[in-house]
Amino acid sequence: MTNTTTKYIFVTGGVSSSLGKGIIAASLAKLLQAQGYRATIQKLDPYINIDPGTLNPYEHGECYVTDDGAETDLDLGHYERFLNVPTSQANNVTTGRIYQSVIDKERRGEFLGKTVQVIPHITDEIKHRVQILGNSGDYDIVITEIGGTVGDIESLPYIEAVRQLKWEMGNENALVIHLTLIPYLSAAGELKTKPTQHSVKTLMESGVQADILVCRTEHELSDGIRTKLARFCNVKREAVIQSIDASTIYDVPNLMLEEGLDKVVLEQLKLESHPPDLTSWNTFVAKHKNPKSEVIIGLIGKYVELQDSYKSILESFIHAGAANEVMVTVESIHSEYLTPENVASKIAHLDAVLVAPGFGERGIEGKIEAIRYVREHQIPFFGICLGMQMAIIEFSRNVLGLKQANSFEMDETTTDPVIAIMEAQKKITKKGGTMRLGAWKCDLLENSQVATIYHSTSIMERHRHRYEFNNEYKVQIENAGMKATGFNPETGLVEIIEIPAHPWFIGVQYHPEYKSTVANPHPLFLAFIKAALEYKTNK
Ligand code: GLN
Repeated sequence: MTNTTTKYIFVTGGVSSSLGKGIIAASLAKLLQAQGYRATIQKLDPYINIDPGTLNPYEHGECYVTDDGAETDLDLGHYERFLNVPTSQANNVTTGRIYQSVIDKERRGEFLGKTVQVIPHITDEIKHRVQILGNSGDYDIVITEIGGTVGDIESLPYIEAVRQLKWEMGNENALVIHLTLIPYLSAAGELKTKPTQHSVKTLMESGVQADILVCRTEHELSDGIRTKLARFCNVKREAVIQSIDASTIYDVPNLMLEEGLDKVVLEQLKLESHPPDLTSWNTFVAKHKNPKSEVIIGLIGKYVELQDSYKSILESFIHAGAANEVMVTVESIHSEYLTPENVASKIAHLDAVLVAPGFGERGIEGKIEAIRYVREHQIPFFGICLGMQMAIIEFSRNVLGLKQANSFEMDETTTDPVIAIMEAQKKITKKGGTMRLGAWKCDLLENSQVATIYHSTSIMERHRHRYEFNNEYKVQIENAGMKATGFNPETGLVEIIEIPAHPWFIGVQYHPEYKSTVANPHPLFLAFIKAALEYKTNK
């Protein structure tokens, strides 16, 4: 059934990948939200993995985890950070998931007697998934971002589903935004429209006419170019929207507002348009762009050469930096190359250190070495997930003298498994979607540093891990000065450790970075940046 009270916007990409469909979708949703519309965004990914949980961060960037425990595309992080509205499994669908549900139905006999085909069975499943959020009644507008680039073989069923939906819903209820690139040829000194013309044509070969073109460009689009694009691509002149390179993604909503993207969209969807209220957003952007001081934070991990691998952490720094009116300069440090000999030269000048989440053995000794240094030198330390586990190992080895202390993940034969596999994980053999995932309750000890930071003793945070603090070592570790201060109320799992004698030494088993948004910077990141600033001032 097609629900016509919800309006649908599809965002496709052409000419090149990595043009930032996610940021355009999030910026448009922000403008619609700021005019009172309930907007949400969904990402359709044309790969065969069921979810990106099994993908290497090198290949796909960070895996973003939602409250309901879905392992999703990192664009969902942008949606949450821009809109301050939680997403869920329904906001990210992959070809793998589509096929899995169609094949499951076939095995259940739901198509008995019929040949199961891409059209209509796969496309019907896509259409159904697109409308789940709209049919919930929670949203006026659903923006659906189609991953990949028009012309890709694997995107075809999605484009076909868009064609059918647009036809069934009508132009007032569904529209297509095509995001393309207008390359600049420096030898000719010209912007070129031909790749966009071809890309719009490719889309038309599948029966889909783009209604709006958003054109990524390094240089201003002249009137002539806009008119030419409109004429060749069958779109209105005002529906040619320039998306010029911005110094920060947080400028994009205002850039889209100046170009009138929200107006063109609302006009076609026959919805009223009002001036959006971006007051608090603009306060954030102004603070982000006019810092009063600077701190240098070391981000220690093994994927540091790729920005996307720790996306949510980097964005959380931006939110917390703006709130503290400080510029956070991140110095990425590759843990694999950190040794006892070079650790001081790489860390001594930093104002704080964050040790990142991760999996597997590579680079862990460097992380442990960095943690020893910051613990001994009173430099603020924040450990996330694997980062917390490494802090416990470091403390056990160097303070308790348990030289063999390790995590079962890295060494199954260790005599001191201070990090052990969770009970519930022991029997699990399948890899996809089987970690401890999503939001879990955590009780904080009164009088702990974290209770002061959160202004609460009961929190919910998102998880993604298999291993945990081994409670058999708790007494020993606590007697030596590292305290467990956050616990799962049902299982007693330790979720937080801190060292009260250190100015700021906190490790968390969960991922606070997934919950930091522009409207709600995460309290732990706020406090961490503040601690870095204090450390720098007193140095
Ligand atoms: N590899 C560790 C575990 O599975 C930490 C995971 C993480 O950092 N997300 O427990």
